[in-house]
Amino acid sequence: MYKKLFIPGPVDVSQDILDAFATPMIGHRTKDIIALQERISKNLQKLFYTDNTIILSTSSGTGLMEGAIRSFTAKRAVVFSVGAFGNRWAKLAETNAVPFDKVEVEWGNPTLPEVIDEYLATGKYDVFTVTHNETTTGIMNPVEAIAEVRKKYPDVLWLVDAVSSMGGAKIEVDKLGIDVCITSTQKCLGLPPGMSCCSVTERAIEHGKQVKNRGFYFDILNLYKFVKEKPYQYPTTPSIPHMFALDKQLNRIMNEEGLEVRFARHETMAKMVRKWAIDNGFEILGREGYLSNTVTTIKNTKEISIGDLNKRLGERGYMISNGYGALKDKTFRIAHMADRKPEDLQKLLDILTEEIDK
Ligand SMILES: *Cc1c(COP(=O)(O)O)cnc(C)c1O
Repeated sequence: MYKKLFIPGPVDVSQDILDAFATPMIGHRTKDIIALQERISKNLQKLFYTDNTIILSTSSGTGLMEGAIRSFTAKRAVVFSVGAFGNRWAKLAETNAVPFDKVEVEWGNPTLPEVIDEYLATGKYDVFTVTHNETTTGIMNPVEAIAEVRKKYPDVLWLVDAVSSMGGAKIEVDKLGIDVCITSTQKCLGLPPGMSCCSVTERAIEHGKQVKNRGFYFDILNLYKFVKEKPYQYPTTPSIPHMFALDKQLNRIMNEEGLEVRFARHETMAKMVRKWAIDNGFEILGREGYLSNTVTTIKNTKEISIGDLNKRLGERGYMISNGYGALKDKTFRIAHMADRKPEDLQKLLDILTEEIDK
């Protein structure tokens, strides 16, 4: 049975976007696809607030994270982790033989700029990674403050995982000075999973030339070369159906809803969930002042069975998420992202109120 998804990806996708996946194929070396990809790139530049080059990847976001840490680390990377997805950067570095150090906080806390300052001041690193929105803990990291500190270290490349927030929160890539900013289609963009995209600076590409073994499929320098020189093409056959759908969805985001309205809608929904949690005797896991606008992680202070709760919600056509990894059963998560409307969220919260005490 179909359930309304209040999980942090994949999200519900509107029917007209699903229909775009059924568009007849075009060749991947044609004028039509170049025009399609140019349009997508220009709209993504607006969404990312950047003039940097946009690269699409037929993979989920983790593929581009792997490509980025491997393609750009010539010396040593420092990974600032606030949860499971921060730890993923470390795993990607480790399994690709990229030298790295991991700095992890107690879950529920943010990455603070002074900690980044302390590590970058050692001069040991040429890359640092930050998770913009940690989907396990519901923390949105203070990237503006981090950008301020980073100004002292202009030569260190900054990689950002914005998988669960780009399209739901304003991330001004150029103003912040982010070198590589990565997102996936199945979270705030409101598309099915299977494609991801990133922005990348010219200086990152220059720096990456020192790295010999960048792999092939996720070699960001090779992807960049194709996008720039061909132009707007890819070394291998991309998911053309995703491109049709992404083109349509970006047009809707930019021209029908508008970015500011979209971000405000996410904020409204985040506030609704936080209030519901407190009103119903729960606590929010994350530290006040650093909470996510796209997903809320709630401490299971009443020790209810999240599995049973989700089963009962399922019978009523809804689904939320259990906690992730070590936070399973200790927390539960409600996502409020992509095209979700506050009215739908209110329905879920009303049903939750009825079901939690059963
Ligand atoms: C979902 C998620 C990922 C993984 O993205 P995939 O597209 O599933 O590879 C990485 N980081 C964060 C913050 C996420 O929420």
